[in-house]
Amino acid sequence: AARRVASFGTTIFTEINVLAQRYNALNLGQGRPDFDTPPDIIAQLVAALQAGQYNQYAPGPGTSSLRRAVAAHAARFYGLEIDPERGVIVTAGATEGIFAAVLGLVDPGDEVIVIEPFYDSYVPNILMAGATPVYVPLHPPQWTFDPAELRAAFTRKTRALILNTPHNPCGRVFSREELTGIAELCIEHDVTVIADEVYEHLIFDDARHIPIATLPGMFERTVTVSSSGKAFSATGWKIGWVYGHPDLVDGVARAHQFITFAVHHPTQEAIAYALGLPDSYYCGLKELYEHKRQLLLQALDAAGLPYRVPEGTYFVLADFSPVFDGTPLEFARYLISEIGVAGIPPETFYCPEHAHIGSKYLRFSFCKNDETLLQAGERLAKLA
Ligand code: PMP
Ligand code: GLN
Repeated sequence: AARRVASFGTTIFTEINVLAQRYNALNLGQGRPDFDTPPDIIAQLVAALQAGQYNQYAPGPGTSSLRRAVAAHAARFYGLEIDPERGVIVTAGATEGIFAAVLGLVDPGDEVIVIEPFYDSYVPNILMAGATPVYVPLHPPQWTFDPAELRAAFTRKTRALILNTPHNPCGRVFSREELTGIAELCIEHDVTVIADEVYEHLIFDDARHIPIATLPGMFERTVTVSSSGKAFSATGWKIGWVYGHPDLVDGVARAHQFITFAVHHPTQEAIAYALGLPDSYYCGLKELYEHKRQLLLQALDAAGLPYRVPEGTYFVLADFSPVFDGTPLEFARYLISEIGVAGIPPETFYCPEHAHIGSKYLRFSFCKNDETLLQAGERLAKLA
């Protein structure tokens, strides 16, 4: 392999899926719903496939229907004014969107700040772009950052900061105060924010998702990345997008055109429909996941594993130290083979120097059928 990729291991999601399958464990690991996409959205895809006009290359930046839907969605939920022609790019999932943003907006030798624990593709993306990651940890049990540590991470070389809210794996939804602190530093140091908001519709109770692009002075320095995978339970469709100020989206588009050029055409039609679903759809999603969160939290209570109640996403980090003495990977293996439940050890979401911060946590996902969650609860109760 090339030096550029020689240090990359197999992603933890693949590793845990293989183990879970071998032991027939209930898989609360990968954020992969075990229920299907809503049937009306699927019907839109089938109709698009059969319409006789969507089976060849889509326009490189995305279909005009989906770009208009992304802009309308940002206006409807956040009051943002997005130019559908020059301010939106459709990508192969948020994963490609983030990579295209890093390649298109960061130079070799630049520094990019990432908040730990981080989604596992960020650091390989930064390294492949020839840039250097700089880490700022969230501290348990509340999973907040230390403002002084954040400030210290900014240098003359800082070009970008990748911000994920609602946050995988901590389940945090960053507050206006936290976001303002980040925004002020980014403005002071002329830093671009790559905002990963794929869980924007998975927020609970009275938490509110605030896109950092809506804060004063931030629109012109933020690209926002999202995806249809989470809000429409369609992770297999891999339709994502990047939106923001045209000057920044231009950089992302330049990279995107030579990564995938264009993405799956009929699916873009179905997602354009889905984004325009009425508020009742989005409220129903919130209620569905509040219920599933409750089932998983009850299971963790019964097992004696403490956690911070997630305000968003479909993940929770559970502290396993009351029931197990070992590393997260050891606990994950034990849980899969002896208890029959799979979770994700967060070691790969940290740089080696900070891995100890997550060393007593395992991530569980509740994007699962109620039956799966209840059964997992019965199995986890054996830990108590
Ligand atoms: N960012 C975060 C924080 C995620 O959890 C995910 C889910 N895999 C992604 C990005 C990637 O999204 P997609 O599946 O649309 O590529
Ligand atoms: N985002 C999902 C998770 O965090 C899936 C990630 C993946 O499989 N690459 O579980």
